[in-house]
Amino acid sequence: MLTFSPTSPLKRILCIGAHSDDIEIGCGGTMLRLLDEHPGVSVLWVVMGGNDQREQEARASAERFLKNAGSSEVRVRKFRDAYLPFMGEQVKDYVESLKSFDPDLIFTHRKEDAHQDHRLMGELTWNAFRNHAILEYEIPKYDGDLGHPNLFVPLDESICRRKIELLMEGFPTQAGRQWFSADTFWAMLRIRGVECNSPARFAEAFGCRKMVI
Ligand SMILES: [Zn+2]
Repeated sequence: MLTFSPTSPLKRILCIGAHSDDIEIGCGGTMLRLLDEHPGVSVLWVVMGGNDQREQEARASAERFLKNAGSSEVRVRKFRDAYLPFMGEQVKDYVESLKSFDPDLIFTHRKEDAHQDHRLMGELTWNAFRNHAILEYEIPKYDGDLGHPNLFVPLDESICRRKIELLMEGFPTQAGRQWFSADTFWAMLRIRGVECNSPARFAEAFGCRKMVI
């Protein structure tokens, strides 16, 4: 349920990512915009897996994206990358434990994502949160699983530039991957901007299965 409005402002956002850079790629621009426009928001930023080096990157990057949050907590778990579905019980217990944060808005992975870790996090988010506004973000990848998002957040070019600069500076371990490049991220933002007729030409897009307002 969407519980914020002009008379009941956005207070708590939960961001869930399977890996260290997922939240930034999927909803980094939207988070920068929301935190610029809604002072005082509290954010719980959860990354499920990563080795020591990727944990360091995740924490440093989250801190930079959350600079304008009223308050924030960054949690990086140590679940093994690519094996989340095979540790299902522990992963599910952990996601259930996040309910006490009682978010107004949740960003998580798409249930149709081709990556097994992403897909599981999308499923478990919907299992745990039964009366919450959930938006599913997209991650471009080799598997070619992009869908047809139905909720768009127009973004100014300056926000997009901040997002991409923070991504490129924040994740040197990913720099060798052929898809992890500024032009990939610009392309996604531009295409979604076209699809929503964004005044500033750019946008991030999400899957919204249902919304109660
Ligand atoms: Zn990922």
